[in-house]
Amino acid sequence: MTQQALVGVDVGGTRIKVVALARGAADGTATQDPTPLAEAVLPTPRDIGSRMGEVVREAVDALHVEASVAAIGVVVPGLVEERSGLARYSANLGWRDLPVVEHVRAATGVEVGFGHDVRAGLLGESRYGAARLRDDVLFVPLGTGVAGALLSGGRLVLGSEWTGEIGHVVVDPAGPPCGCGARGCLEVVAGAAALGRAWSEVTGQRVGADDLAHAVAQGEKRAVALWQHAVRVLTDVVAPVLAGAGSRLLLLGGGLSNAGSLLTEPVTERLRLLMPGREIEVAVASLGDRAAALGAVALAADALAADALAADALAADALAADALAADALADDALAADAPARDTVGAEEQS
Ligand SMILES: [Zn+2]
Repeated sequence: MTQQALVGVDVGGTRIKVVALARGAADGTATQDPTPLAEAVLPTPRDIGSRMGEVVREAVDALHVEASVAAIGVVVPGLVEERSGLARYSANLGWRDLPVVEHVRAATGVEVGFGHDVRAGLLGESRYGAARLRDDVLFVPLGTGVAGALLSGGRLVLGSEWTGEIGHVVVDPAGPPCGCGARGCLEVVAGAAALGRAWSEVTGQRVGADDLAHAVAQGEKRAVALWQHAVRVLTDVVAPVLAGAGSRLLLLGGGLSNAGSLLTEPVTERLRLLMPGREIEVAVASLGDRAAALGAVALAADALAADALAADALAADALAADALAADALADDALAADAPARDTVGAEEQS
């Protein structure tokens, strides 16, 4: 029997990451950090909105896996509505109400899982990474963008298409302009790109968030002040979310999380202050920029499992229909017997 593979496709603004896992390794009981059968990175074509199915098929083909592809998971950025299979909106990729599942299924002929890239990142971390076996987690990637994804009671929270948009909570109304049209959103104050820009202004050199973290580690006063401000606004936004959801783990990802304990320690300390008596563990994500593609693999596995359940339900329906039919046949036989008995009776009378 040919080995089966599940493929995850993470469509980003500039790159598409694609990864294949053996079907056994991708299922719910997976071991930590599963070794992919293959992975690839391709540039995101500009016209992807008009040919999503084809682009995903090409990305899967680029893996050249020997195994037969049993299902594909696709995750995209922007506003996403998992339940309807629609990518509602992406400013970067230029689509509106794109029926991703429909297009990918038509182009590939296999079962398709679909989701949002940040929520998929959390799903990846919870199946294969730092949030494995954890039920109540808030995942916050701090990259160019900032967003949140929640696992509550072991389930990914999927609300409206705005779910998780914590990066656009305004933390400083007089702050820098944000791509969303507002000013001073969390992501333009405390995101990795924003901190890199802020530190560049201070130093007069083109530097990134990594350089800022380095300066913080050296105890550079202006760097420490910037860092503390970022920690303060970040925790001001996430604390109510953690409290409302009853999260036990805050998992930080994205470029800024490379700072490790330089970030997790002050965040832990400030959360203690904001949420006295509640011990929130703060940790760094472990799958790096592969998390969303691996989460897409998990979505593919879930789509197959849902399909199997639906097939079981159909089979159960068919069995029930057979039982009814058998019952009807038995009734018919009884009915056929009855006139025979009548005939016998009639004969006896004559
Ligand atoms: Zn914004």
